[in-house]
Amino acid sequence: MKTQISLILSITMTLIAVSASAASPPAAFGPSNPLYVPSTLPYQAPPFDRIKDADYQPAIEAGMAQQLKEIKAITDNPAAPTFDNTLVALEKSGSLLDRASAAFYGVSQANTNDVLQQAKADLAPKNAAHEDAIYLNEKLFARISAVYKQRASLKLDAESLRLLKFTYDEFVHRGANLSRADKATLKKLNTEAATLSNAFTNKILAATKEGAYTTEDRAALAGLTDAQLSAAAGAAKERNSTGYVLPLQNTTQQPDLASLSVRETRTALLRNSWDRAEKSDANDTRDTIARLAQLRAQRAKLLGFPNHAAWKLEDQMAKTPETALKFVDALVPMATAKAAAEGKEIQAVIDSQHGGFTLGPQDWNYYSEQVRAAKYALNGAEVKQYFELNRVLEDGVFYAAHQLYGISFKERKDIPVYQSDVRVFDVLDTDGKPMALFYCDYFKRDNKNGGAWMSEFVTQSKLLGRLPVVYNVANLQKPAPGEAALISFDDVTTMFHEFGHALHGMFSNAKYPSLAGTQTPRDFVEFPSQFNEHWALYPEVFKNYAKHYKTGEPMPPEMVEKIKRSKNFDEGYGLTELLAAAELDMQWHTLSAGEPLQNPDDFEKMALARTHLEVRAVPPRYRSSYFSHIWSGDGYSAGYYAYLWTEMLADDAYAWFEEHGGLTRANGDRFRSMILSQGNTHDLEKLYADWRGREPNVDAMIRLRGLKETAGTQ
Ligand SMILES: [Zn+2]
Repeated sequence: MKTQISLILSITMTLIAVSASAASPPAAFGPSNPLYVPSTLPYQAPPFDRIKDADYQPAIEAGMAQQLKEIKAITDNPAAPTFDNTLVALEKSGSLLDRASAAFYGVSQANTNDVLQQAKADLAPKNAAHEDAIYLNEKLFARISAVYKQRASLKLDAESLRLLKFTYDEFVHRGANLSRADKATLKKLNTEAATLSNAFTNKILAATKEGAYTTEDRAALAGLTDAQLSAAAGAAKERNSTGYVLPLQNTTQQPDLASLSVRETRTALLRNSWDRAEKSDANDTRDTIARLAQLRAQRAKLLGFPNHAAWKLEDQMAKTPETALKFVDALVPMATAKAAAEGKEIQAVIDSQHGGFTLGPQDWNYYSEQVRAAKYALNGAEVKQYFELNRVLEDGVFYAAHQLYGISFKERKDIPVYQSDVRVFDVLDTDGKPMALFYCDYFKRDNKNGGAWMSEFVTQSKLLGRLPVVYNVANLQKPAPGEAALISFDDVTTMFHEFGHALHGMFSNAKYPSLAGTQTPRDFVEFPSQFNEHWALYPEVFKNYAKHYKTGEPMPPEMVEKIKRSKNFDEGYGLTELLAAAELDMQWHTLSAGEPLQNPDDFEKMALARTHLEVRAVPPRYRSSYFSHIWSGDGYSAGYYAYLWTEMLADDAYAWFEEHGGLTRANGDRFRSMILSQGNTHDLEKLYADWRGREPNVDAMIRLRGLKETAGTQ
């Protein structure tokens, strides 16, 4: 049983607009639906050549009904509850729902259309109700409890015992121990929360679209390249208007701010971004988030917790908001000190050009580019010529995995894909045996969500006899036909990052699907991915892929040095804006149920001041009113800190490799067997400490982030 689709979101997640209108009612579900029976393709890969858009929703709804029937068979079983007839039976339930949902959410994020968007909107409340129907099923919980109480005498293996405890805890966590009256209240709160989250998502999509900067005046856009200008003109045309449009991205900072030389334009664009969801119109999100925060606090209280964060973190690696906050708080002085030092360097450039103003957030990226150019003389266009996408993939990403883990990759063309740019690779284990299927879908499309992510079409499970089918999605610029795909070093890093998630899914060696692969807490799941980023700059790997796309010459050593050194400039800014977002998230979610409805603007100001993150030139990466990670669904609420927490783990882990000879098979095999193959089959704190030989600490992160001069230890 896997009731949740875990989509591993990148830090810059964006969602695309729901523009669905009234659709025809879903078709009936029967054998003509390609999702009706398990796929007969290799690895049970989804038969995308046969699935039509209209097939998903009926399959998912039938899958829900089927799973409830399977659960009824468990609860009606006259035999006394046992591990097999209850826990294992539950793990085996929901196979139709799993395969239909996995294919549907994969496609609807990466290649959507009105039919799929409408299905997603229809399915959101149904999914919430389906989960409640399982987790609040009294007969089912009674059986699980009965088995749980006998656990000491059952002689279960470690993974089975973990499954028992995990399942029991998850039911309690979601309210199984509540009285009937409280359960009814909980269901109401869950439904309202799902509705509010959906409303937030729709409002923010519209607000972000409407917040675009528009102008007829080409001079206002001075500094943009011809390509950027034609993109802006194209965006205007798409909206049936004239002139130029700079669409907003979901973060506070906007990419064009690095190029725009007219300060008034920068100021206007940043203001559009900052105020996008606070215009007191239909797309204003403030009432929605204020109520959502209050509702989450009320739900936490009902479940026996002081606040939403305490409830959410119960099953995370950090375990309590206090632990997470202690970690975040400790980074604040170092980050803000580094940002202040960077700000001084930038102000000096502004002054030397007789700018006559004080550095603001709208200026940061424009002038930091100049500092970077002056200090490191790094030319982005030149650098890109050494990063050709296919070479990065095969001679970089795959090469590093081969050197570390001995696995190999073979492209295959016989697996149907949902879009013609998608590529599929067989992943072969050290002994040459099939291990996993890997899809990559790297190019940007208008009907794809922003950012990059990993997820699975099939989750590995020994119980179900399934090998993993894993995919990576990104938004890299697609080249013109016949041209090479040249990407930035940031894009290279993204590819290594997402592939780190993919390895976590592909190496999974779990019996139970609920504990497999990336089915780990938020504050662990970004560890393998951030860890994998480190190999992008590892000399032996780097020199293998960073070759000029025409001549094949290796990147000149001076350029490599510059990339390395310039990486740390701006780290102060980047870390401070992240910390501000993490603190905002935590402050919202440590409100108690008794607090009145908050005014989001006042609350945000106070929260930033209280955490020493009210830095004029460095606003939070997301303002509360457009912080999709925490309001668009529950997944990342009280969980934004996890990006930094897992960075600590990743850097600490990489330091272990450095201490033990770096990129070797021995090191890789040990990491695979003790971490990457383990999924959530063991307590993760212990798993990590056993592998590392000690608890994780923040020293390596401080060193690698270039924060060392002001560093202390945790
Ligand atoms: Zn990630």
